[in-house]
Amino acid sequence: MAYDADVIVIGAGLAGLAATAELVDAGRTVILLDQEPEQSIGGQAHWSFGGLFFVDSPEQRRLRIKDSHALALQDWLGTAAFDRPEDHWPRQWAEAYVDFAAGEKRSWLHRQGVRFFPVVGWAERGGYDANGHGNSVPRFHITWGTGPGLVAPFERRVRAGVARGLVQLRFRHRVTGLARSAGSVDTVTGEVLEPSGIERGQASSRTVTGAFELKAQAVIVTSGGIGGDHDLVRANWPERLGTPPERMVSGVPAHVDGRMLGIAEDAGAHLINRDRMWHYTEGIQNWNPIWANHGIRILPGPSSLWLDARGNRLPVPLFPGFDTLGTLEHIMSTGYDYTWF
Ligand SMILES: Cc1cc2nc3c(=O)[nH]c(=O)nc-3n(C[C@H](O)[C@H](O)[C@H](O)COP(=O)(O)OP(=O)(O)OC[C@H]3O[C@@H](n4cnc5c(N)ncnc54)[C@H](O)[C@@H]3O)c2cc1C
Repeated sequence: MAYDADVIVIGAGLAGLAATAELVDAGRTVILLDQEPEQSIGGQAHWSFGGLFFVDSPEQRRLRIKDSHALALQDWLGTAAFDRPEDHWPRQWAEAYVDFAAGEKRSWLHRQGVRFFPVVGWAERGGYDANGHGNSVPRFHITWGTGPGLVAPFERRVRAGVARGLVQLRFRHRVTGLARSAGSVDTVTGEVLEPSGIERGQASSRTVTGAFELKAQAVIVTSGGIGGDHDLVRANWPERLGTPPERMVSGVPAHVDGRMLGIAEDAGAHLINRDRMWHYTEGIQNWNPIWANHGIRILPGPSSLWLDARGNRLPVPLFPGFDTLGTLEHIMSTGYDYTWF
């Protein structure tokens, strides 16, 4: 069979860039597809804070934070609260990721030129007992240059792959179908969208100008989450959190549309844990929005005062930055979908 490349990667966010960069190092040919125009390369990570999870790092030790692989794994398992048969692979992932974060992750990034702010933050702190939710020590390492500083080395490696003739970048290519032959997914079909001159992160047009079909030995889906489509968020809303809030703001650009998950499922992918989603409750409407309904999260300051709609202080440990899902559950139990921060 004639293949267009060894591998097709769907989505040029950080995951797709990292996968492509590693494939280039292995000498593979890659077609990297994205529905957005070239100026939005890097996806959500460009907008992110670039906060990274390392375990027992030099930055932590300098601040006399005692961390270990065992403590980090205990915190991860306490937060994930795995309790379903389909948690088999997420549990393997938890173990592999803690190995990585306590092992080669920092030096791997450092070799690529990524540097870290010497003060380690304490995100998702939990505040319950030792086996409960959250990080029991500060582990949030901030990248110098925040999100763009993290995207840059991977984009550089991918563009070097283009220069070597190993990578083809195809923007405005929106995947709409995956097909299998001989048991594995090897065909990707979709629509070519009209060129777009929007600013990075803005919603681009969906006007179709053509179609494409590509084949490869392997297909990697790195299409991001569902946060940009609130209908999809509501449809998958966890029962335990009650009714979804009437008003929500969006922390992610419109391209985080979740469509690719349904497309993968139609091709036989086994999707799990759709109701395990993450929401920040410290969100406010951006006064100068880049995407529709753009919300920004306020990082917790040391003296934040947080009150429910009736003016009651939120109960311990529902402080900003401690347990956002626990806080969401509490807020929804008050009968109002807002707080005073
Ligand atoms: C404001 C903000 C702050 C954050 N802060 C942090 C932080 O401090 N630390 C941290 O670890 N994480 C943080 N995150 C989360 C992190 O940035 C994201 O989880 C991560 O960047 C997701 O990368 P991704 O490549 O999986 O997906 P994305 O960045 O969403 O990229 C997916 C790409 O796939 C493309 N795509 C989707 N569907 C299709 C299709 N059908 N056809 C073609 N292309 C398609 C999209 O256009 C997009 O370019 C933050 C996120 C935001 C928005």
